[in-house]
Amino acid sequence: MKRSHFLKLTTAAAAGGLVLPQFGCSTRKSTAIASETRAARTNWAGNYVYRADTLGTPATVADLQALLRDGGRKKALGSRHCFNDIADSPDVQISTRGLDQVIELDEVESLLTVGAGARYGDFSVMLHERGFAVHNLASLPHITVAGACATGTHGSGVTNGNLATSVLSLELVKPDGTLVRLDRDHPNFPAVAVGLGAFGIITSLTLELQPTFDVRQDIYLDLPNARLDADFDAIMSSGYSVSLFTDYRGDTISEVWVKRRTDEEADDLPAEWYGARAATEEMHPIAGLDPVNTTAQLGVPGPWYDRLPHFRMGFTPSAGKELQSEFFVARTDAVAALRALRGLSERIAPLLLVSEVRTIKADEFWMSPAYQRDSVALHFTWKQDEEAVRALLPAIESALAPFDVRPHWGKVFTVEADTLRQRYPKFDDFVALARRYDPAGAFRNDYLDRTVYGV
Ligand SMILES: Cc1cc2nc3c(=O)[nH]c(=O)nc-3n(C[C@H](O)[C@H](O)[C@H](O)COP(=O)(O)OP(=O)(O)OC[C@H]3O[C@@H](n4cnc5c(N)ncnc54)[C@H](O)[C@@H]3O)c2cc1C
Repeated sequence: MKRSHFLKLTTAAAAGGLVLPQFGCSTRKSTAIASETRAARTNWAGNYVYRADTLGTPATVADLQALLRDGGRKKALGSRHCFNDIADSPDVQISTRGLDQVIELDEVESLLTVGAGARYGDFSVMLHERGFAVHNLASLPHITVAGACATGTHGSGVTNGNLATSVLSLELVKPDGTLVRLDRDHPNFPAVAVGLGAFGIITSLTLELQPTFDVRQDIYLDLPNARLDADFDAIMSSGYSVSLFTDYRGDTISEVWVKRRTDEEADDLPAEWYGARAATEEMHPIAGLDPVNTTAQLGVPGPWYDRLPHFRMGFTPSAGKELQSEFFVARTDAVAALRALRGLSERIAPLLLVSEVRTIKADEFWMSPAYQRDSVALHFTWKQDEEAVRALLPAIESALAPFDVRPHWGKVFTVEADTLRQRYPKFDDFVALARRYDPAGAFRNDYLDRTVYGV
């Protein structure tokens, strides 16, 4: 590889201006087992207080290896954006904050290697400035790459796989402290890349890039349900990324967010579209909230990183004080599943801030909710009343059971391993492989015991 085409970005390089200061990488030097107070260590939404007594903060891979060789129960902690106990440990959580460097940008091969703790927002601006993009983003850029991939995190788009589909290789520290590399063609890769934190702690990931692109975002209001049901595939395919926002009440979908690549289809859409009308002012997905934190709309083109997420880096995404659940069904079952949810609208609406509907292309990750199934994700942003939400979820999960529904691993759900096993063809293979990587159960926690190991 020619050196002139190969950029190594370290923390020092980032400080030199390649990454905007607010997205800058860590400059922490020390490794430590730090003790934060329990009250301080909650997930992002604040609905879950981690039980782990201590928090390890390795600054290097060698530090991380040493921490793992100490033995005991350990768990990687990313940016804490899951709504359940998936990132908790009975003993020690290991933060990946210190492993957030942008390690290499290979401009010839269009590859980016980042530390596991890097957040998408940490490198997106730099990538765009150097002419590159990742294929898709979640609704927020605040999440770590490793944490997002571990749970099958996704954006939207009928041609877009989840975020892990851009991972070409990864490096992982196993429970005994050994560092292994897995490339995409390794037989264990489809298990480990969406690995739910069960195999070890990922230290870096190499992502495939594409040339940078601009996106325009247009919002439509009050799409009639009847038109949606009749033209679901056409509507969801009308942009590179399309999201519907609804509360399942009434006869219309309140907002449709259509994100189109300007290099593919830049024309204005009509003011009336599938019976919906174009918004004439910027909107927040949650009715009544100020759109100040959302990415620019009204057809104004902008770089992919500032249009594909709904929320801008540096601002509170979504509502803040909330819970989330999300359920995946085959795209061919989308209309029937939406009808089933409309039947529960009177129970759903009082607890709901908003529901979002997105599409995800099928993939091959054993525990991905889109495993071998072009999917629709039915997402719920709930008011933060966990008791009431948990009381309602079984009704939603039952209504969607005929569609072999799979829940988002990082959000709130109630089904457990016995049910999930029937919905993932490679479930038992995943469990067997996780036991092989982690025979002493160093990475096991209540979540994995309940939802995967089934104990
Ligand atoms: C406001 C908001 C919006 C969201 N929007 C979306 C969305 O658009 N689409 C979507 O799919 N999800 C969305 N989510 C969910 C979110 O993307 C996932 O919960 C994601 O896993 C969070 O990443 P994290 O870095 O915070 O992971 P954490 O919550 O810190 O950890 C998640 C899991 O990953 C494991 N993990 C983390 N780092 C590593 C590592 N280095 N090695 C091994 N395992 C690791 C942890 O052990 C844990 O099991 C949203 C969440 C919030 C709060």
